[in-house]
Amino acid sequence: MTSDNTGPTEIEMMPQTGPAEENFDLVSDSTVRVSSATKDMGKRVYDKVHYCLFCHKAYSKMARHLVQVHGAETAVASLPRDGVAKRLKLELLLRKGDFHHNHEVLCQKRGNLVVLRRPNEVQADVTTYEDFGPCPECLGFVHKNLLWHHVRSCPHKPANGNYRRPIQKESRSLLADCKFRNGCPDTGFVTDILSALKNDDVSGIISQDTDI
Ligand SMILES: [Zn+2]
Ligand SMILES: [Zn+2]
Repeated sequence: MTSDNTGPTEIEMMPQTGPAEENFDLVSDSTVRVSSATKDMGKRVYDKVHYCLFCHKAYSKMARHLVQVHGAETAVASLPRDGVAKRLKLELLLRKGDFHHNHEVLCQKRGNLVVLRRPNEVQADVTTYEDFGPCPECLGFVHKNLLWHHVRSCPHKPANGNYRRPIQKESRSLLADCKFRNGCPDTGFVTDILSALKNDDVSGIISQDTDI
């Protein structure tokens, strides 16, 4: 635990403006938005932000933020030194932080949804936040039409994964409590999601984090 995490409950509030808030140039008739991928001179620009699993703020360089600010957290301190194993563990931390953020956005019906692959400017005209749902394995938000395909190739799926299961239903159930709550606190969410997580080391950390 860092000193930032020992205060009262105010850090559970969604930050209104992150240090790297994305462009709201797009999408949807509601106040939940999916920002489109920005392009500069025809090239895709990597300006995506992630939301920290621990302090819930937005950063564009999340790996660096985690190491510099939350290096004492077990999930960060125990990251492999490098290689594919490190990348995968880090990726999962990012996705869980983004999931926490997205869950808040959907409960409060306000904010910017972080998705694995942002729609381009053309797709964005016909895409709304309701087209996206979380992958039951990694919690990354994927277009629902591509969810089944994503889960089959998700690097966080268990080796002996069962693909006959109802993926769409599992995905919806991860957000089921958003329908019943406004401005949801974390409590129910954590219980629900932890039971769905298969990575014990990370789920242990989420559990600790939300005890604040
Ligand atoms: Zn943080
Ligand atoms: Zn996945």
